[in-house]
Amino acid sequence: MKVAERIANLPPYLFVEITKKIAEKRARGEEVISFAIGDPDIPTPPHIINRLVEAAKDPVNHRYPESAGLPDLRRAIAEWYQKRFGVSLEPDKEVLPLIGAKEGIAHIAFCFIDPGDAALVPDPAYPVYAIGTNLAGGRPYYLPLTARNNFLPNLDAIPQNVLGKTSLLWINYPNNPTGAVADLDFFNRVVEFAKKNNIAVCHDGPYTEVAFDGYRPVSFLQADGAKDVGVEFHSLSKSFNMTGWRIGMVVGNPEMVKALTTLKSNIDSGIPQAIQYMAIEALRGPQDCIQEHNSIYQRRRDLVVEGLNKMGLEAQLPKASLYVWAKVPSGYTSASFATDLLEQVGVVVTPGLGYGRSGEGYIRLSLTIHDASLVKGLSKMAGWRDNVNKFKLKVS
Ligand SMILES: *Cc1c(COP(=O)(O)O)cnc(C)c1O
Repeated sequence: MKVAERIANLPPYLFVEITKKIAEKRARGEEVISFAIGDPDIPTPPHIINRLVEAAKDPVNHRYPESAGLPDLRRAIAEWYQKRFGVSLEPDKEVLPLIGAKEGIAHIAFCFIDPGDAALVPDPAYPVYAIGTNLAGGRPYYLPLTARNNFLPNLDAIPQNVLGKTSLLWINYPNNPTGAVADLDFFNRVVEFAKKNNIAVCHDGPYTEVAFDGYRPVSFLQADGAKDVGVEFHSLSKSFNMTGWRIGMVVGNPEMVKALTTLKSNIDSGIPQAIQYMAIEALRGPQDCIQEHNSIYQRRRDLVVEGLNKMGLEAQLPKASLYVWAKVPSGYTSASFATDLLEQVGVVVTPGLGYGRSGEGYIRLSLTIHDASLVKGLSKMAGWRDNVNKFKLKVS
């Protein structure tokens, strides 16, 4: 049979390769400690699970859901945005629940990108922005995120001929993989840029609730006129430790929400209703679990950054997100460092190059790892670095 070019040309999804490598090592009986994947290890809070159990028993929830989601879920999302960000949303026009944000992020490309169009995609970034663009027949134009510009894209550096064929701009703060944050000032500039160049904005914001030291990230929709030009993707995955349940949302510009609703109603049948009830419970219920989770992540963040710095790896304390973005020592590429670390001490980190060319020279460590494994992983890395230093002394 002939596999379609769009699939044949697709690189394997970043974590599929890493997961395979880990499984191979474990199958050989070797211990592997993974800082690779951003998937909360803390369980979904019990009050949310209880709502699922209850909803699962009701036969009403055994039948097809609607693609647009339960009206009450759309209302709960709008109420949460109002309470959390002071952003008003029309539940029936400006809110669409998703089967996880990833699904919506990939699919929205098909609503706004015609073959030959460009999408502005940050580099490094969550891989799905560029993959969706490519699948829709468009071309990603990469915006480098570097330490020098605080990991914010330089919108003034995009050539006019690129802007002329650009239909979408992707941004993501708090940022995966760099841990960088953006303020309202940046989002206001994005709105201005989008209006001037007639570009639709997709802000991906699954980490607005994962923040440290009392910092409270802002929503893109808090920027003046944001709803005129764009949408924000959000997710229950990271906020409420619900990655396994697959539920997220897109909110904002009604035309964009409508286009994605039209596409999705033709290709999926919505989120299992019992899971929609979990989301309603998460959004309307007590929010203190968020702070509890953040203090766990914050302690881990401090341990990881301190451990890396002690080893001589440069890393900043992120204000938000689940990630530490660290520089690899000179003499290594991001891939050679990650490979040696895995082969020699069984510790997995994600090579920055996997997120784009500007990720070269960095590795990403996720904070979604049990405390005991985290401490063990750091001590293995520290021991390894000692050896490397000794080795280097010997040869020089
Ligand atoms: C985790 C993550 C998502 C996906 O969230 P789901 O709702 O689980 O699909 C989207 N964007 C970024 C940047 C992420 O890190």
